[in-house]
Amino acid sequence: MVTCWSSVTSGLAYIFSRRTAQLTELEPSEGDVQSLARMLTRHGLLDAPANIEISLRPVGSCSAKSWPGGEFLPVERLPPVHRDLQKHATSSNANFVVAIRTPAVQAVCKLPGIRPLAQGGVFFYRSTIHCNSVLDVSLELEGKQDVTVVFVREMCGQGAAFVKAKSVGAAFTLAWYLNKTCKRHLLVGSQPVIEVEDAIWEHAAKQTQENDDFAAGVEWPAVMASMSPAQALQEQQPSTEEESVRMALANAHREIHSRGHDELIWNHISARLNDRFLVTPGDRLWDRIEPQHLLLESKNCTAMVLHSAVYSAVPANAVIHTHAPYLEAVSCLQGGLKVPADSMFAGRVAYHDWLGFSDDYAECEEIVANIGKVPNCIALICRNHGAFTWGASVEEALQRHVALEAACQEQLEAAHG
Ligand SMILES: [Zn+2]
Repeated sequence: MVTCWSSVTSGLAYIFSRRTAQLTELEPSEGDVQSLARMLTRHGLLDAPANIEISLRPVGSCSAKSWPGGEFLPVERLPPVHRDLQKHATSSNANFVVAIRTPAVQAVCKLPGIRPLAQGGVFFYRSTIHCNSVLDVSLELEGKQDVTVVFVREMCGQGAAFVKAKSVGAAFTLAWYLNKTCKRHLLVGSQPVIEVEDAIWEHAAKQTQENDDFAAGVEWPAVMASMSPAQALQEQQPSTEEESVRMALANAHREIHSRGHDELIWNHISARLNDRFLVTPGDRLWDRIEPQHLLLESKNCTAMVLHSAVYSAVPANAVIHTHAPYLEAVSCLQGGLKVPADSMFAGRVAYHDWLGFSDDYAECEEIVANIGKVPNCIALICRNHGAFTWGASVEEALQRHVALEAACQEQLEAAHG
């Protein structure tokens, strides 16, 4: 058994090539698993690295390594849900199964199912099962394909979700989005939500499978790069307009991050620079963004599509887009944002339906038309997705974004009584 493990883990590596190739999985290493444990802990998905509960079955093996302990065991001897999910997996890739027990995940375990609701929930569209106990898992998995998460309502007095992934990076991403999706589900509660058509969910799911830019795990290099401490931004007097814009943008990214409104490498902030705009790079976490990292062409294609649309619709100098928790939850509600008449947003918010990941400039026309329907518009809520604010400066766009998130929080808290 040990020999088998040694042979499959020789030349350990997980090679990642973002734009040009598939996620190429060689066998993951012990170090990869320890990194995953550390990153799950840092992002609040695990209470301590030592408490990781994970099994890892190398390609083509009938055995798997299991933590805590790091033992190499026949699949049949793995802990119950790991055993059933590893047996069920038909993928030719290595398979990770990771247990997640955050408060939001445990709360959703008790419900009949999980609702994906918004773009970030696409990984869980028709790919989860809910079981009352570990005894039901095997039967529930029968005849099903592409199961990403198994929720178990009752396990030693608490619920747990088991995430199945093909790589260490995908395991992190899926755990991260699972927690966010559970939180959103709870924030929305029993309020009437927009029912997204199956065709749109299926299109978005396909995008995550066929477009490397949207694949689960694409964030892993940036997440790993955040292992070292973030550098504080140097306060220095900008000597050119460009330096000033770069500094304002870097500060805005840090501010949004400090409020917990960012989403790993996703979301974007931009500011006009002559006839173009500088924007979020799309390859690093937001607390790592420094003035020199802002780009004229983001590595996140949706940034270019969406921000171009907003700049052609309004005379803004800066645009902010996030999937901050409360505005994202409100974006899923049939009634949208409800604000008092004296709110800065009263009558000044446009809406745009979700069509899947925005990777096509053809969507711009519709965004421009939707913003054009609202005189003096200052915000766009993208249904089942997130929101945009803009302004004459980065500071004004930021102030509006923070205010929009606060208005959405107030609405949701009032709805929960
Ligand atoms: Zn977005």
